[in-house]
Amino acid sequence: MTRFEGKTALVTGGAKGIGAATAKRLASEGATVVVADFDESAAQETAQAIGGHAVRCDVTKREDVEAAVDAAASHGSLDLLVTCAGIIRDNLLFKMTEDDWDAVIDTHLKGTFHAARAAQKHMVEQRSGKMVLISSTSALGNRGQTNYSTAKAGLQGMCKTLAIELGPYNVNVNCVAPGFIETAMTRQTAERMGVPFEKFKEAVSEQVPLGRVGQPEDVAGLIAYLCSEDASYVSGQVVYVAGGPRI
Ligand code: NDP
Repeated sequence: MTRFEGKTALVTGGAKGIGAATAKRLASEGATVVVADFDESAAQETAQAIGGHAVRCDVTKREDVEAAVDAAASHGSLDLLVTCAGIIRDNLLFKMTEDDWDAVIDTHLKGTFHAARAAQKHMVEQRSGKMVLISSTSALGNRGQTNYSTAKAGLQGMCKTLAIELGPYNVNVNCVAPGFIETAMTRQTAERMGVPFEKFKEAVSEQVPLGRVGQPEDVAGLIAYLCSEDASYVSGQVVYVAGGPRI
């Protein structure tokens, strides 16, 4: 398929996990992909494998994000923005530090704000663009994630507001909210809980109607749809990709 021929995509947090699978999927369908990540060598590895470009970027830093957006736009246009950069700093409220709160809120909320604000300049001028923000089922509440669930719920509000503001300029903004996806992030959760990852996945799978945990490619497929012209009349939506409702 060549749905993204002639399009340029910027994927933050694109070096690993869901971001890397998204970068790969968009590139496989013809997009020129710029992988922006904290982890420069991993970003370069991912970009090289898909014939894309890498840029070191800490999404909490406005200058870094603006430089990444400019680097993407230098390929002729900035058509697609997918904001995957994310971290967790889980703890029950009484043990959660101010640093845990700030790091998570800054990465997810401020990071996405920086990226959306910088990208809209190009997209509004072009009168076209697609943004996909990454929320989570944790937006609905999850023990030990006051910081993360707040950020992920905030992103759903951001998505709807941006869809209202940018719709008149033919820019679609949607949110994808994954459930448990097998990445470094969920491995980190298992480690913190002291549970072997395979056992953790088995336990989670029992709570998922489709009977398995998700893979980054499951999320990338939905993101690619939302970035495509098939979704040209879809905006301001939150789409859950979690193997079914919680049971
Ligand atoms: P990964 O840890 O595999 O990938 C996240 C990437 O973001 C890493 O490469 C990480 O770099 C990078 N990153 C972290 N902080 C920054 C920053 N400040 N600036 C730039 N890049 C940064 O996680 P996932 O692929 O699992 O997560 C991707 C997104 O999906 C996140 O927003 C996450 O919250 C969300 N999500 C994930 C779910 C899951 O089950 N895995 C479920 C629901 C949502 P480094 O490794 O160096 O920190």
